[in-house]
Amino acid sequence: MKKDVVFIVKTVLVFCALSAAFSLVGMLLPEKGPLSNPSGGLNIHEIGGHILWGLVAGAAFLSARYAIITGLFAVLIDSDHLIALLHVDALTRMSHSFAFGAIAVVVLMTVFGRKDYRLGAAAFAGVLSHLSFDTFAGSDGRFPMFTPFYNHQIIFQNIDWIYFEVTAVVIIGIVTLLVRRKEIQVQSTVTK
Ligand SMILES: [Zn+2]
Repeated sequence: MKKDVVFIVKTVLVFCALSAAFSLVGMLLPEKGPLSNPSGGLNIHEIGGHILWGLVAGAAFLSARYAIITGLFAVLIDSDHLIALLHVDALTRMSHSFAFGAIAVVVLMTVFGRKDYRLGAAAFAGVLSHLSFDTFAGSDGRFPMFTPFYNHQIIFQNIDWIYFEVTAVVIIGIVTLLVRRKEIQVQSTVTK
C-alpha cells in the first residue's frame, strides 16, 4: 500500500514536470502567439471531469494503482498552461499532442521500469482521455495535436469525445491483456 502511494506520487510528479517542460518548446515554434490566462481552467468541473474521464479509462487496468495514475495524469497534462504565467509568446496547449504522449511513455518507462507497459499505457491513455473531456466539455476541442511537426490547432466537435475515450480504453485493455498473459506464462513456468 505505502509502496503504491510512493509510486503514484513519483510518477505523477515526473509526468506533471514533463508536461510543464514540454510546453516550453512552444516558445520556439514559429506559430507562437500571446497566451491567455490559465486560471479559467482551475475550477472543480474541469478538474473533477478530467480525473473522472481518466479513472473511467484507467478502470480497464483492473488495478487501482494504474487507474489512479491514469486519472491523475489526465488532469495534470494541463500543467502545460503554466507557461502562460511567464508572459512569453508560445504555442498554447503543447502537451495536448501525440508527441507529448510519446515522450511521456518513453521518459516514464525509462525512469520507472522498462517493462512497466501499464505505466506507458497510462501515460498515453491519460493524454487521450484528457483530450476527450476537453472536447466533451465545450468550446475547448482544439489542440495542436501534431506539434511540433504541424503546429496548427486541430478542431473537434463535442461529439468526438467518444473516439478519444474509447481509444484510451482500448489501449489500456490490450496492454492489460498482454500483461496478464505474461503473468500467467511466468506462473506456469514457475510451477512446472
Ligand atoms: Zn486541457
